[in-house]
Amino acid sequence: MQDNKALQAGTTHNLGQNFAKVFDLKFQAESGGMEYAWNTSWGVSTRLVGGLVMTHGDDVGVRTPPLLAPIEVVIVPIYKTDEERARVLEAADRIVKGFGAWERREPGRLRVHVDAREGVKPGAKYFEWELRGIPLRMEIGPRDLDKNQVVLVRRDTREKKPASLNTLAEDIAELLSRIQADMLIVARERREQHSVREPITYDRFRELMDGEGAFVYAGWCGDAACEAEIKAETKATIRVLPDEEFRSAEAPRTCLRCGRPASTEAVWAKAY
Ligand SMILES: [Zn+2]
Repeated sequence: MQDNKALQAGTTHNLGQNFAKVFDLKFQAESGGMEYAWNTSWGVSTRLVGGLVMTHGDDVGVRTPPLLAPIEVVIVPIYKTDEERARVLEAADRIVKGFGAWERREPGRLRVHVDAREGVKPGAKYFEWELRGIPLRMEIGPRDLDKNQVVLVRRDTREKKPASLNTLAEDIAELLSRIQADMLIVARERREQHSVREPITYDRFRELMDGEGAFVYAGWCGDAACEAEIKAETKATIRVLPDEEFRSAEAPRTCLRCGRPASTEAVWAKAY
């Protein structure tokens, strides 16, 4: 998370066949014989939504990756007179229908919402949709239509750019993919910037945990007493024993706390 604490989320467990034996739950195996079912448990709960908010949110509100956003694009019409309103809403309707036609050609899906509420100023609508983290905002005003364009505003970077009506569906699909990829890069880079992978003294580790926090890759002797002491002294605990692909190129040789030979590499951090 952005405060350099870890959040346990989406934990998965292999429960084996014990429950299946208790409930006499069997299935016919490929071999033809009957076998007890294997159970898994997936801790996929609203906590993942909390993780999303805490990973990607900024001071303006939520930022949602396009693939997870209930609405990917919100269209905000801009007008002063009734005549302009009719013209702009008609254009919005045409754009949404155009997406539909495009999607039948290209396998994809655009979740679009037109915010046609009356009595709410465009600025107030921007604010609301930014707070709710909708990845892309499309502004359409009469002057944009005169130029055969709309204005697109990214929620993640708040970058604002005109886009031609001629290639809008393609451009938006591409932009949403880019937002998805960029958000992942930003989140990973931030995590890596606050990860310590080089050998670290225990004094330095305590300093980090007293300060802004970090995700520290370090050796552990395997003794529960060392983990308990570290927790008492710094509030940090072992968050994960990384699988091979996530381990440091050079395995840590000594335990972070006691200096005895390390039996495993562990990632230490404070957690919720
Ligand atoms: Zn130790």
